[in-house]
Amino acid sequence: MLKYDSEPISDPQRLSQIISYIRGIIARDPFVAELLYGKAMALKVAIDSIDGFIQACTAEVCPHCSNVCCINRHGYYDDEDLIYIISLGETLPYYKTGLSETDSCQFLRPTGCSVPRYLRPFRCNWYFCIPLIGFMRQRRGAEYRLFTSGMQEAIDLRAELIEIFKAIEVKHPEGPMW
Ligand code: SF4
Ligand code: SF4
Repeated sequence: MLKYDSEPISDPQRLSQIISYIRGIIARDPFVAELLYGKAMALKVAIDSIDGFIQACTAEVCPHCSNVCCINRHGYYDDEDLIYIISLGETLPYYKTGLSETDSCQFLRPTGCSVPRYLRPFRCNWYFCIPLIGFMRQRRGAEYRLFTSGMQEAIDLRAELIEIFKAIEVKHPEGPMW
């Protein structure tokens, strides 16, 4: 069974084992696989719905940042990210291993993150530093409220998705503890 400890998985062998494990669990029940797909798709839509607002705000705030939060450690996926992406039928972006966890994230480009928002580790979409939150609140009243409701929807959908997966996982507890 998975640990669900929110730890970024940087080791490629462990990552591959966990991906196979999740695929194996989902493949056991086509009905649940459909349920997971529907929930993952709804989560993607929720994330996409807040992308424009976040992008507009980060475009204003982040270029002036002296302590950029995008480091390699944050660009790795955790258990729950993998359940979501596999349920959606997507694959992870190719990434290099053996990089310093504290160096600038390998997915970061001069124009920002090169990974579509809906495929980023959830911590990337969930993290808002104080200057960014301040900018969002001050300049975009109505949009900010839409953003917070979209974000809450994404959080709720993700929790529901994981609960569905856990429900089928406990039916087959013979797997190793990752
Ligand atoms: S989100 Fe905040 S900490 Fe991260 S790069 Fe933008 S301004 Fe800097
Ligand atoms: S937002 Fe993109 S560039 Fe930043 S840490 Fe996450 S994956 Fe890396």
